[in-house]
Amino acid sequence: MQGKILVIDAVSTNRIVLKVKLGAAFYEVLQAASIGDAAKVLASELPDLIISAVSLPDGTAADLCAALRTRPDTANIPVLAIGQATEAATRFATLAAGAFDVMDRPLDDLLLLGRVRGMIRSHNALEEWRMRDETPCPEGMAEPVADFAPPGRITLVGDDPTQLRGWAKNLTPHLRGKFALTLLKDAMANLHAGSPADVVVLSLPTAPKEAEVFLRLISTLRASAQTRQIGLLVIQQTPDPLWATQALDLGADDLMLGGFDAPELALRLRVLLRRKRQIERMHQSVRTGLRDAINDPLTGLYNRRYAMPHLENVVARAATTHRPYAAIIADMDHFKRINDLYGHAAGDAVLVEAARRLRGAVRSVDMVARLGGEEFLIVMPGTDLETAQSNARTLCKTIGDTPFAIPGVDRPVGITVSIGLALGGCSATASRAGPQHGRTETVQNLLCRADKALYAAKTKGRNRFDLSQPEKRPAA
Ligand code: GH3
Ligand code: MG
Ligand code: MG
Repeated sequence: MQGKILVIDAVSTNRIVLKVKLGAAFYEVLQAASIGDAAKVLASELPDLIISAVSLPDGTAADLCAALRTRPDTANIPVLAIGQATEAATRFATLAAGAFDVMDRPLDDLLLLGRVRGMIRSHNALEEWRMRDETPCPEGMAEPVADFAPPGRITLVGDDPTQLRGWAKNLTPHLRGKFALTLLKDAMANLHAGSPADVVVLSLPTAPKEAEVFLRLISTLRASAQTRQIGLLVIQQTPDPLWATQALDLGADDLMLGGFDAPELALRLRVLLRRKRQIERMHQSVRTGLRDAINDPLTGLYNRRYAMPHLENVVARAATTHRPYAAIIADMDHFKRINDLYGHAAGDAVLVEAARRLRGAVRSVDMVARLGGEEFLIVMPGTDLETAQSNARTLCKTIGDTPFAIPGVDRPVGITVSIGLALGGCSATASRAGPQHGRTETVQNLLCRADKALYAAKTKGRNRFDLSQPEKRPAA
């Protein structure tokens, strides 16, 4: 099935005609005769699209849109309204209530299916992002944010500069936006240069040859990663269902068949701008989500979830490169006392500063993670015994040599760290004995050695490091 469509119309023949047309295009069709009837259907099934008569026994398509927006699970379902010689005011009110388009009977089958495909495609694209984004933000709820959003960047593309200037001038009172005008021949270059547009309005020429060139621009914009998310609206001067359907199938988001109309265009542009911002916000939120999954929120260092597979990689890679590496566990000394003396918040501030110092004391290729509590893991690939020992010493000094300034405490407080260093990969006498052969040490074993070395450093007085070398295998 291509998708599920709910048809709402009091006239059963209208419903049946649509059911036949949509069924032939492999859509599953649900039916309802009124808004009340539709609510019953929606209680058990959620369609990908609703096609509703402009006028219904218990209200209008605008009322239906308003009702849908009150429920989070139906708020994002796109609505296509179908009327009969719909008056301009009703058309405007229906669009303003959130309907995606208003089409009048007699319906052009080609255009209807093009519209349906386009609406379902764009709905699915948003839903996919919503699934990846953990923070739900239904379209209706995103509206208040739009008030504070910067003005949309709108590029008008056509072949008549006078017409484009006139459109921009007429749109200005209806829409807060930054308008740019571009002739078709310059469109690709201009849309890639500088800050890209949020929405592009294409004035589709009537002459077939020129229209073809414009349509090619749509597919080119959709193919480029830089311009793929731009909202695309096509305005036809004279309605031509064939061109219009092609424009939709190539990736246009919206279509105005009846030529330029400033208030209606402003309304449609607002929807596209809102959608673009939503997608941007969801991209951002997915990126932030990924970052949160691998970072410790207090210190900003990597967390255990990231550190363990990273260490596995370093160990596995060393098995092929035969280069030694170091794993260091650093544990703050008598940290409980810091909390007891100055409070938990002071303890947190010390952890943040300690993390900053540790990160600053190692190379960028080294990884510093917070394993938990006041314990850190530092992984240093390509590090021999001598360098590892020198690094461990430096890490002790970077914490111990400079007392920590604690908010609300008069004098800086001296704090130290103990370190367990485990060298892996090659034995300390690598040059003589050569790298360990045959067996790669497990990460668990490596960390166990680092832990034992840490314990030794603690028992030997703290503020120092202790070393564990790779286990020497008995000679064969
Ligand atoms: P040692 O030198 O033997 O390591 O002594 P210690 O006090 O550092 O070790 P212990 O394991 O007894 O206590 C660790 C303390 O670290 C206890 C806990 O309250 C504190 N701690 C763990 N995580 C956090 C944190 O996120 N913030 C703060 N402020 N304290 C923490
Ligand atoms: Mg400790
Ligand atoms: Mg500890």
